[in-house]
Amino acid sequence: MRVATIAIRTKIYSADRLYDYIVPPSLAQAQAGCRVLVPFGKGDRMTEGFILACEEQMQPQQQLKAVHALIDAEPALTPELCRVVQFVRERTFCTYYDAICAVLPTGFRIRMTESYLPTGELKDERERVLAEKIALFGKADLETVLAGLTAEEQSLFRRMLHEGKLLRKAQPQKQISDATARFARLSATAEEVARYLAGHEKILRKHEKVMDILLPGDPVPVTELCYLAGVTVSVVHTLEKRGLLETYEQEVLRSPFARREASEEGRAPLQYTPSQQRAIDGLAALLAKDEAAAALLLGVTGSGKTLVYIALCDIALRAGKGVILLVPEIALTPQLTDRFYRRYGTEVAVLHSALSTGERYDEWKRIRRGEAHIVIGTRSAVFAPVQNLSMILMDEEQEGTYKSEMAPRYHARDVAKFRMKEHRGLLLLGSATPDIGSYLAAERGKYRLFELGKRFNQRALPAIEISDLREDLEHGRGGVIGARLEMALRETLEKGEQAILFLNRRGYNTHVGCPKCGYISQCPNCSVSLTYHSANHLLMCHYCGHTEEVPERCPSCGRGRLQHFGFGTQKAEEELRQLLPEARILRMDTDTTTYKNAHEKYLYAFQAGEYDIMLGTQMVAKGLDIERVTLVGVLFADAMLYLDDYRAGERAYAMLTQVTGRAGRGERPGRALIQTYTPESRILKSVLTKDYKSFITEELNFRRAMLFPPYCDIYALTFTSEEEERAMQAVQETARYLALRIRKEKLENILLFPPAPAPIARIGGKYRTRLLIKCRDTARLRQLFSEELAAFFRARKFQKVTQIIDRNPVSML
Ligand code: ADP
Ligand code: ZN
Repeated sequence: MRVATIAIRTKIYSADRLYDYIVPPSLAQAQAGCRVLVPFGKGDRMTEGFILACEEQMQPQQQLKAVHALIDAEPALTPELCRVVQFVRERTFCTYYDAICAVLPTGFRIRMTESYLPTGELKDERERVLAEKIALFGKADLETVLAGLTAEEQSLFRRMLHEGKLLRKAQPQKQISDATARFARLSATAEEVARYLAGHEKILRKHEKVMDILLPGDPVPVTELCYLAGVTVSVVHTLEKRGLLETYEQEVLRSPFARREASEEGRAPLQYTPSQQRAIDGLAALLAKDEAAAALLLGVTGSGKTLVYIALCDIALRAGKGVILLVPEIALTPQLTDRFYRRYGTEVAVLHSALSTGERYDEWKRIRRGEAHIVIGTRSAVFAPVQNLSMILMDEEQEGTYKSEMAPRYHARDVAKFRMKEHRGLLLLGSATPDIGSYLAAERGKYRLFELGKRFNQRALPAIEISDLREDLEHGRGGVIGARLEMALRETLEKGEQAILFLNRRGYNTHVGCPKCGYISQCPNCSVSLTYHSANHLLMCHYCGHTEEVPERCPSCGRGRLQHFGFGTQKAEEELRQLLPEARILRMDTDTTTYKNAHEKYLYAFQAGEYDIMLGTQMVAKGLDIERVTLVGVLFADAMLYLDDYRAGERAYAMLTQVTGRAGRGERPGRALIQTYTPESRILKSVLTKDYKSFITEELNFRRAMLFPPYCDIYALTFTSEEEERAMQAVQETARYLALRIRKEKLENILLFPPAPAPIARIGGKYRTRLLIKCRDTARLRQLFSEELAAFFRARKFQKVTQIIDRNPVSML
């Protein structure tokens, strides 16, 4: 007898486990990766489920119910991706369906309006009766029809479809032709949605449909949403009013990277430098082996890591193998995508969230069918169903965007590692400034290390200088642009060259410092910068909860009055226009580039020389390779150096290396200028000497001494509720529960911090509390967390509290 192990479509974590069902002989096609309908729960309501495994069992242990119908005749996921689903669920404490939805493209879950009509006179009595029965359904999707048929009727129904006696009419997907469209996105947690839907049983089948289509982090145009769910706009408005979703206006991106044919020039053979060739040979050997391997490509900016990726893709393609190339953000890598299109043409598929649902689904299908062997995409492309997958490349692997901040809270690197184990393939992490954990793994021999120590063509890395803003202050110059930077800008403009000015978005107003000496308050326990909380005028540590008052005078020099540093790109732009009225200035930040292709358009305009100075946040720091840029200015490095996060140093180093690396990539030598109040910072010193290894060695010492990752893992348990007391009670009881079990089960090396309000104590009217745990991530511990989470969601008194578990979150807020 065949038994299927099935994940049920539920949003309730405590009910979320696998259930066994018998597969009746009439559904012989059922296999792992297929969606099915099964009777579930009270009243055996027909519910969607997903087969994760299927096997013969002589005698099932208990009385099992039977699968009612098969939704997909062809499995939606390969058996390997079914295991990925289980992996993601076990690692990230999400529901099976959260994991399934992350792995499947959005388009898959979309049901078209369908109807089934006889094509001619039906002679057979049984067929005629069935056709009449189906006609009663009217316009109904396959699932609804199948749910209403007995097993026998289902097989007759399928046969009639197959023989062409019944015709399936599905409405084609509507094209959206507006230049801008209203989008809807989820604004409630899965638990809140579930609670809402459970509370409104009767009226809300329509509401349920809408919420089914919306996924965390995956906005859908409202017109498309209404169309797919078969509802009117008023339903969407109702849900918006009740806080379950929100809508906003956005320009529609139509194939920003329209598929392109390869060109002669793009396909031309490449000449590699000796160090590139060494890396390629070593990596090719790993790729050829029939075992899983992981490697780190440590290459300074401009050393030609892309060329190494291309060489490896050439090799993989020749062997008929598939590759996934992950990039942190697609909008930041137009040059790389372009280059791949020119070389590989339609072998390339691009997956990212700016594509419309339909476009993404089309790309997914091309990958699945084996028409595209190279997938370029952002985080979720790590799930791409590439045939013969043999390699996953992660460019700029240290980037925070590889970690999902919504359920499922996975890290693409972990998934990539898992998949490469399954496929016995090669995981290659590339960066000029790898994640500190990756570097440690390479040092310990877990990853093979390959290095590109020099820029291509002997081009020099830019000369980096520090501009001490304290000196400007002494001379009565208190603005955003210091004297040295002003001079450097003038020189650059005179030579007809271009400049990029960078300002870190985060970090203002959150820390206070002394403008005279640069002193910044730090936590005595954790050695991270303290954050200023305006609500109580106290300085706080976000890890251990240490608080102190803001000192009157600077405790270091005794002269300065501690104050906030802070300004935005807008202020910087105004000052620039006054200083350099003749300069053509382009400001790039989220205000000026709300639309993703606006961002791209401006970039090309800058590249074409239509501007002299590009000023912006993160988006000007990465990936750009523009010949005429010879000056990079960092306006205020301290905003990065003293973030209230144990990774502040690592991130500042990576960011400063990246942004200064934008200078001097062409014929002309480049120069970078970093403005700061604290030139003595050890991080700035290592940025100046471009010595990643000595920086990382010191950083590792700090992490080991203070016990931070990679020497432990940090779990953040966050509780949110509209009632402050409940949120507090939840965090306290959970802390007690975990402490008790840790003691009872004698689990070691686990450090529970005292429960506390979260650094951002209130968001959107909801109170947030936080429990931090330092530990070693083990299966045993994850089991404990998973049990805790299920128990929590079962507890009546916490019905109005939501809990989220996040391992090594990107943001500690
Ligand atoms: P990285 O990603 O390591 O910062 P890129 O791959 O963008 O560096 O390469 C920097 C520049 O050098 C690019 O313009 C690239 O085309 C060029 N380049 C690197 N290696 C070669 C090579 N072997 N032949 C020709 N051009 C190269
Ligand atoms: Zn602390």
